[in-house]
Amino acid sequence: MNTNLQTPIDYLKGVGPNRADLLRKELGIHTYQDLINLFPNRYIDRTQYYKINQLQRNNADVQVIGEITNLKDVGEGRAKRLVATFKDDTGVMELVWFRGQKWIRESIKLGKPYVIFGKINWFNGVFNMPHPEMEFLEEHEKNLRSAMQPVYPSTEKLSNKGITNRVISKIMQELFLETKGNFSESLSENEISELKLISKSEALFNIHFPKNQELLSRAQFRLKFEEFFFIQLQLIIKNLIHKSKIKGFNFEHVGNNFNTFFKEHLPFELTNAQKRVLKEIRADLGSNAQMNRLLQGDVGSGKTIVALMSMLIALDNGFQACLMAPTEILSVQHYNSLFELCNKLNISIKLLTGSSNTSERKEIHKMLENGELQILIGTHALLEDKVKFKNLGLAIIDEQHRFGVAQRSKLWHKNDTPPHILIMTATPIPRTLAMSVYGDLDISIIDELPPGRKHIKTVHRYDKNRLKVFRFIKDEITKGRQVYVVYPLIQESEKMDYKDLMDGYESIVRDFPMPQYQISIVHGKMKAADKDYEMQRFVKGETQIMVATTVIEVGVNVPNASVMIIESAERFGLSQLHQLRGRVGRGAEQSYCILMTGHKLSEDSKTRLQTMVSTNDGFEIAEVDLRLRGPGDLMGTQQSGVLNLKIADVIKDKDILQHARHYAKSILKSDPSLSLPEHKVLRYTYSQLTKYKNIWNYIS
Ligand code: ADP
Ligand code: MG
Repeated sequence: MNTNLQTPIDYLKGVGPNRADLLRKELGIHTYQDLINLFPNRYIDRTQYYKINQLQRNNADVQVIGEITNLKDVGEGRAKRLVATFKDDTGVMELVWFRGQKWIRESIKLGKPYVIFGKINWFNGVFNMPHPEMEFLEEHEKNLRSAMQPVYPSTEKLSNKGITNRVISKIMQELFLETKGNFSESLSENEISELKLISKSEALFNIHFPKNQELLSRAQFRLKFEEFFFIQLQLIIKNLIHKSKIKGFNFEHVGNNFNTFFKEHLPFELTNAQKRVLKEIRADLGSNAQMNRLLQGDVGSGKTIVALMSMLIALDNGFQACLMAPTEILSVQHYNSLFELCNKLNISIKLLTGSSNTSERKEIHKMLENGELQILIGTHALLEDKVKFKNLGLAIIDEQHRFGVAQRSKLWHKNDTPPHILIMTATPIPRTLAMSVYGDLDISIIDELPPGRKHIKTVHRYDKNRLKVFRFIKDEITKGRQVYVVYPLIQESEKMDYKDLMDGYESIVRDFPMPQYQISIVHGKMKAADKDYEMQRFVKGETQIMVATTVIEVGVNVPNASVMIIESAERFGLSQLHQLRGRVGRGAEQSYCILMTGHKLSEDSKTRLQTMVSTNDGFEIAEVDLRLRGPGDLMGTQQSGVLNLKIADVIKDKDILQHARHYAKSILKSDPSLSLPEHKVLRYTYSQLTKYKNIWNYIS
């Protein structure tokens, strides 16, 4: 009879109410099951012993045999600590305790051989080990040691309360004794034999008590694979349900608007990537199911024209379309560039933002409801309840990382039948990750820039070289170019940041005197109308320098601007730097991005700057960004469970991820409801994992 793994952890031998409480609060371990799934972070070699004269400053965890010859109190008040002199036949080191000194002092035996284990520091010419794990040598020798002793996740509170790694290992042993290490299999026999996996029980045993390196590796592979596999299974099933359940408008034909535009007004030839993506979108729009598509394309890859042509298809089928952007500046820009094209086609188009006045709003509301208005461009203002469409067929969201999922769903509910949704983002997410995170979205990628685009030359300069940089700017302006100077603006340090911006602005005004030079400034504290005015002066070429905070980060298009100066570049994240750089390099001229920083830089900042200098490729940058920050900041990661991974790592294990996704796909292809007898185990595991009780009704 198997032990029930849902048994509360309190019942396990060696746990008891106090420890159970701590395990729950600190590690979220409630049941036996949770404990089994507490996987070690790493393994250490406890078969190796160091002599004190072998210790090196880069030793992480070490194990030493020796004895304590002396104990003394050092320091006063909060700095008070207990220091032991620890000796072997090659030298002397110190052991240090900052807490629990009384208890340690009473339990330590001078002159008796101990085995100590822990991290060492080099301080004042000696090695010391704070809060070592200690054991009498005699006892130590009774236990078998492994070359791969697990190190479990822990918290400060746990170790303060005496739940050390050793205690957790002990509890884990109890768990295996009580359950006899017998755990039910979660994958079908097919998978296990096809993928040459070890069994669940064997994997769990070896992850906690590795017999050897090979079995440990196989255990890790099996558990990581399984973790990814079930997430992928969920995501793909969700997508299948979405497609079969959510009916969309069927845009059967491509008509006048699209064809006329394509033949007569297309300002350039589409890139192959743009053509491919348009095909994917057209297929969705005519498929009877609601489109829910993410369009990824680097800055400048030409997403706007794809958006317009998709909207034309909606119009050709008698529907309205809207395009929503995160900022006023960007909506205005979209509006301006689409207005002309729409005029040529005799299409009605309007702009709605926070600064639209009442009479404009009234007019728009009316025209939307009676169907006169065909395309609406705007900001969040589009989401207001008052904004009602007669028949919204397609909603496009630009730069979606600024909008949340909740807002997406608000657009959905503008009709009884949800409109088709296209989300455009210039913050590329590495392909493998995107697939695993955005399970309910289909993905299109524009992976090609329009022809003739020049590589943006990027350099890193220190503040002390500012004069040289200014001279360079002057040369560019003389050639007729325009320049952005961008300052960071971060909420926590907003006051200081505004000061920096204004100081910077003043010094630029001094160095670039009127009337020879004209300078615009745009920041978040200005009124929308003033911002717009300044922006327009720059767009029209009346000013040569635009000093701004990150409000210009998204989407602004001034092809004549060829230099981007980013001040305090070390304070920006990689994707932000890449977005900013994308504001230049939009015309025919060679463009430049200059990253200005102070002298002191953290390792991460250095990596970010080097990455920017070495590549223009948004996907490559996204990979580095992900490596530096982890996936936590990506939109959607919370929903998909990618963040709650227990053993696998989306970045380090991306090959396993891809493998798991492939496998999940092929299984669902042949058996979408997992109803074949050979998938019985899968189906059972899946149903345990998923909340959707009726999931099977929707598919197959
Ligand atoms: P993003 O993907 O960043 O939104 P845009 O749609 O703003 O990029 O396009 C950037 C610039 O490239 C615009 O000036 C646009 O007119 C131009 N462009 C887009 N597609 C092409 C193309 N196929 N050939 C030439 N220029 C193009
Ligand atoms: Mg854009």
